[in-house]
Amino acid sequence: MSGIWVVVEERDGRVSHIGCEAVAAGQKLAALTGLPVNAAVLGAQTEALAGEAATWALAKVARVEHPLLAAYTADGFTLALEQFFAVEKPDFVIFPHTYQVRDYAPALAARLGQVLIGDVTAFSADTAQPARPVFTRQLMQGRLNGAYRHSGNGACFISVQAGAFRADELQAGTAEVCSFSPTIEPAQIRTKPGERFRASAQTIDLGSAQRIVSVGRGIKDAANLPLVQELAAALGAELGASRPICDAGWLPLDRQVGSSGQTVSPKLYLAVGISGAIQHLVGMKGSQCVAAINKDPGAPIFESADYGIVGDLFEVVPALIEAVKAARQ
Ligand SMILES: Cc1cc2nc3c(=O)[nH]c(=O)nc-3n(C[C@H](O)[C@H](O)[C@H](O)COP(=O)(O)OP(=O)(O)OC[C@H]3O[C@@H](n4cnc5c(N)ncnc54)[C@H](O)[C@@H]3O)c2cc1C
Repeated sequence: MSGIWVVVEERDGRVSHIGCEAVAAGQKLAALTGLPVNAAVLGAQTEALAGEAATWALAKVARVEHPLLAAYTADGFTLALEQFFAVEKPDFVIFPHTYQVRDYAPALAARLGQVLIGDVTAFSADTAQPARPVFTRQLMQGRLNGAYRHSGNGACFISVQAGAFRADELQAGTAEVCSFSPTIEPAQIRTKPGERFRASAQTIDLGSAQRIVSVGRGIKDAANLPLVQELAAALGAELGASRPICDAGWLPLDRQVGSSGQTVSPKLYLAVGISGAIQHLVGMKGSQCVAAINKDPGAPIFESADYGIVGDLFEVVPALIEAVKAARQ
């Protein structure tokens, strides 16, 4: 067994931010288990990516290279890593929880006779000697935390949630770089690479806004948006949104707050009808004061809020608009 392997992803020629978070998670897991931590980079030309990963505190960085890995395909990545891990026999494999990973990692784990523990937000040591990691993942939209332990033989595959581990805690060091050439035939790639998913563009700079009113799926319909727009106007605030609102095209993508949207740090962040999924929280946790309106008292957003109003936003927001207007007169 060869310890922990983190499979990193490339973004604009560099290791992606969530890839760095996954490596930081790998280093934490190494501290918990006492196992060495390594990273694997995939592609047709991986020199630059491997060079970047080699500046971190890792035992090895493996360049898994093949011309058919130039563009991502589920078949190509699964085949390459299946062969690589058959040789390396890892104890743990960590992926960033991205669309790409969700596409191929479950198939890869299944081919190696394992399951993937997806969307991990934390891990801790159990009471066994030596200690084994217990992984946490959220259930029922963050209302419950599930604890998962890997049992049996073979590698434990996990993917880590964006924002759950901190890229700025990545430890620097020097790693040995090695190469692995998988055998892949063109006929084994059954799909044609499409255009890459793009995170939201940033033409509106929510990052420098002092006040933000953010709207979530609780608003129910695009036709109801003027209600929160009026509240934002009354407070002199920018309008932000959770991802489903932007995905539905109700507001432009550059209004999205969160791990695949903008990171904001206003003096006031008012979340209206937003549940508080971790991908949203990572984008606004730097806010000085968080207030939330949600009809569900168990909504996870309340755990991050300084002020919470449990109620129907269609009753609370009009009352708030009146109160703000009255206070400003
Ligand atoms: C890779 C990845 C990246 C992601 N990136 C982001 C991101 O950048 N930003 C982001 O926001 N999400 C992101 N997500 C999605 C995220 O996981 C959640 O699905 C999303 O944040 C949920 O949005 P929401 O809170 O608006 O909706 P929901 O989770 O559906 O919550 C709606 C809330 O509204 C409340 N509500 C309903 N009706 C009312 C009412 N009448 N009055 C008051 N409250 C009401 C409900 O109680 C509920 O809490 C990402 C997911 C993945 C997998």
